[in-house]
Amino acid sequence: MSDRSAELFRRAVQCLPGGVSRNTLLRSPHPYYVDRATGCRTWDVDGVERVDFANNMASLIHGHAHPPIVEAVTAQLSKGTAFTMATEAEIDFAEHLCSRSPGFDKVRFVNSGTEAVMAGLKAARAFTNRPKIAKLEGTYHGAYDYAEVSQSPSPERWGAADRPASVPLAVGTPKGVVQDVLVLPLNDTAAATAILEAHKEEIACVLVDPMPHRAGLIPVTEEFASALRSWTQENGALLLFDEVITFRTEWGGMQARLCVQPDLTAMGKMIGGGFPVGAIAGREEVMSVFSPGEGGPRLPHSGTFSANPITMTAGHIAMAQFDLEAVERLNRLGALARHRLEEAIAIAHAPASVTGAGSMFRLHMKPETPTDYRSAFPTPQEKASLVAFLEHMGQAGHLLIYSGAGVLSTPMGEAEIEKMAEAAVRALRHSMETVPQ
Ligand code: PMP
Repeated sequence: MSDRSAELFRRAVQCLPGGVSRNTLLRSPHPYYVDRATGCRTWDVDGVERVDFANNMASLIHGHAHPPIVEAVTAQLSKGTAFTMATEAEIDFAEHLCSRSPGFDKVRFVNSGTEAVMAGLKAARAFTNRPKIAKLEGTYHGAYDYAEVSQSPSPERWGAADRPASVPLAVGTPKGVVQDVLVLPLNDTAAATAILEAHKEEIACVLVDPMPHRAGLIPVTEEFASALRSWTQENGALLLFDEVITFRTEWGGMQARLCVQPDLTAMGKMIGGGFPVGAIAGREEVMSVFSPGEGGPRLPHSGTFSANPITMTAGHIAMAQFDLEAVERLNRLGALARHRLEEAIAIAHAPASVTGAGSMFRLHMKPETPTDYRSAFPTPQEKASLVAFLEHMGQAGHLLIYSGAGVLSTPMGEAEIEKMAEAAVRALRHSMETVPQ
């Protein structure tokens, strides 16, 4: 069934390290190679149809080839795609984004979530003139050195639970980077505050993903978020939310749900309407580090393709159509998906659990629902069970993220959720049969 994909992968490994440009696409024995997609459905080059719960890693809020976006982008393509001139499309979209949160006085566009987080961290350093950042253990924030620290530490290296070690991700990460990043345990206010207190004069910002996918898709509690808000306010540091994924959980992002207003918010993924994007938004005083004032900006910042009119056009349509009603509908579908998956686990008598919120879920091959990165960390057997589960789901026509996460899009309805949950019962049974428990 996968002849053409196998052939493409043979070619790919000759010219791309590992055969891909994104490791997230790798599966054994080779990635799926897409031919086309529309709405929430994809077809691979071998003709296999799958419902897309992977959603290009949570970036396609209206699914693939959404007709209003295709139409508007096609019109813009013939007018030009990138200029050394500003565009009205950028202003239109900036106005829209700023209207979505009381904390967004100003916004600056970039080309990826990585860049948005990087710009946020640098803005915090420029604003406070301090070197250190604090972040949560096990969280993914893109490829900036500082943001990568303790992205996925192993048990041998992660240190004490209440004082997590700062663990570099890439070989060759400079020591200075690791020294300037403090790692906090998720939802443990006492431990996190103690770590911050020990370095309070030096901390530029606390970086928080309010529902970190890699750390288990476990929401930050209101108590933890508001403790970090108070601590940063009292100690001259900034609070930076990474809402690259979680902005979809509410019209105004997860910060609206948590009733916490960060100083800065990094966004990306869905706000590009299917095109590469990132944005950093925040309060006027902090965002002014980007503005050339007397003596130039405190943070000089540019990007060749930033705010290009293709992304601005697509992003604006995507976000305008992701209105309050659409957000609420998708969140209801998300609740249904989590509920149906829990039922599937019970029917299959599988040692598994479900986390998530809003329009996202994540299946863990663990009977106890994890509460943080460490309890979500899979054993080798749990990892093998998940691979078997995902493989079965893929063959049955349901594409999920490699972590066991699933993300919804507006073209989905209850039928897609019900079918996915029915397939999950069979996939869980298959996984238990193939991987000895
Ligand atoms: N932050 C979070 C929370 C993310 O999930 C991601 C991407 N998975 C990023 C930042 C980086 O975004 P990008 O891949 O667009 O650089």
